[in-house]
Amino acid sequence: MADYDVIIAGGGLTGTITAQAISHYTNQNAKILVVDRNTEFMPGRKSLAGWVCGDACSKEAVDFMSDRIKVQWTKPEIEHDVKGVMAFSPDKETAIPFDGAGYMLNRQKLPEIQNERCKKMGIDFEYEINLTGLIYDGQQVVGVQGVDNKSKQPFKKTAKIVIDATGVTSMLRNGLQNSTKVEKRIDRRDLESTGRYIMYFEPGQKDLTEFDPDYCIIHLDQDIAPGGYGWVFPKAENKVNIGLGVEKSLLERRNNRLGKKDNVESLMKEYLDRNTAIKNAKLSEDPEDINNNSGIFQVSVRRQNDCMVSGGYIMVGDSAWMPKPIDAGGIGPALIAGTILGNNIAQALQANDVSEASLWQYNLDFIKEYGYKTAGLELFRRLVQQMSNEQISYGMKHFLGNLDVESISKGEHPDFSGLGKIGMIIRGAMNKTVADGLRYTSKENQWLVGHYENYPKDPAGFDEWNKTLHQRLDAAFAKVEAFGK
Ligand SMILES: Cc1cc2nc3c(=O)[nH]c(=O)nc-3n(C[C@H](O)[C@H](O)[C@H](O)COP(=O)(O)OP(=O)(O)OC[C@H]3O[C@@H](n4cnc5c(N)ncnc54)[C@H](O)[C@@H]3O)c2cc1C
Repeated sequence: MADYDVIIAGGGLTGTITAQAISHYTNQNAKILVVDRNTEFMPGRKSLAGWVCGDACSKEAVDFMSDRIKVQWTKPEIEHDVKGVMAFSPDKETAIPFDGAGYMLNRQKLPEIQNERCKKMGIDFEYEINLTGLIYDGQQVVGVQGVDNKSKQPFKKTAKIVIDATGVTSMLRNGLQNSTKVEKRIDRRDLESTGRYIMYFEPGQKDLTEFDPDYCIIHLDQDIAPGGYGWVFPKAENKVNIGLGVEKSLLERRNNRLGKKDNVESLMKEYLDRNTAIKNAKLSEDPEDINNNSGIFQVSVRRQNDCMVSGGYIMVGDSAWMPKPIDAGGIGPALIAGTILGNNIAQALQANDVSEASLWQYNLDFIKEYGYKTAGLELFRRLVQQMSNEQISYGMKHFLGNLDVESISKGEHPDFSGLGKIGMIIRGAMNKTVADGLRYTSKENQWLVGHYENYPKDPAGFDEWNKTLHQRLDAAFAKVEAFGK
């Protein structure tokens, strides 16, 4: 008999949401273990650098979880309320609001509270375990293994289902042996290298395009944050989470273009120094930030893994590459996926069937709720990454109508299919290229959303579906890549 019904590998943000969701949907009848390499006193830390994150998430996603699994987030894990996110064009002439009202979290505090709650629900924890892989019985995953850092002894525990919530660097996914459907490795160009500071400051020049206590600000700029963006997220009137993300090959291209040798760290420093609304900034030494005030980590910006289950194994959160491709927001999809997964696991345990086919419904449920749009957004992100600052500014100013802004605010790909048609005059070859690019990604997005609506209902149809997806995506990626040449 297995030691547990469910082992959750990785007790970070996603792992603990999922644990609570399973507990909720099984009426606390499942035996659940959460395993993490952190100590009991530093739960949820991503790496030695801390709980590196922009800390922003939408109210809508938190409500999605709270409504279903009856878990509320309040203070102190919510540090500050915001009215939305505002993305500024490089020339700052256009600002697009998206995501609606939301919260700035304290990522160091949140897991402490999550773990307390989990324990009250009867969920077990094992700390300081460095997981290295899965245990198999034939084609079925039946447990996890690694090293207990406390005793330096091997660690092995068995379960009916293992949930991989170990984040973007997941060793379990990388070494997965019982599936040809699950993608194991990520393309380097789908990773952003990102870093941020959490700081107190004195007010400088009042400039709501540089700091706004009510809005999370995003700066699109290929010189400041090539292939990514800079952000200034308020944690209080005088406290900020400020950072940026870049794509490494585009950073190299930018360095060559400008004759510079910047890296993420130097860019972060420059980005802070150039902000005139923030004066005399100092890293926060509050107890709830002290181990977390400066750091760099990676985040994926692609569609979720093409298949997220195999026999006895399921992935969720960053290990499944869930952060949204255009803004790297991973908390929202983690809240949604973790909640959904709780229900899927309850069903599988109830049916006493943890085969790939039984767990398959999770692929479908996540796509229905969220995943249908991510491939189109991945393509859109690739297009924007190829654009110059002039093109981004022009595109945001002239091509974004109210409807597009609305769809962006809902996290959907805007529909540019009518661009240039209805008597619209687009001057200049460069701007025609932008219009062509946007029209193209809109068209492809429509196809991709349709294709995801037809995600196979069971594993048998997957290979055919996936082949078609990759053919279409490969062609689209090549076309968008050529756009920047
Ligand atoms: C700089 C930056 C800024 C970001 N900003 C935002 C933002 O503003 N809003 C937003 O929504 N998202 C943001 N994201 C993304 C967001 O932080 C992630 O989506 C989120 O943390 C994912 O949670 P997770 O639990 O899936 O993974 P993680 O937070 O990485 O947690 C993984 C857990 O697994 C454990 N673990 C890993 N490997 C092992 C192992 N081998 N053995 C045992 N345990 C292991 C870790 O200790 C950790 O506890 C940002 C990311 C970065 C890097």
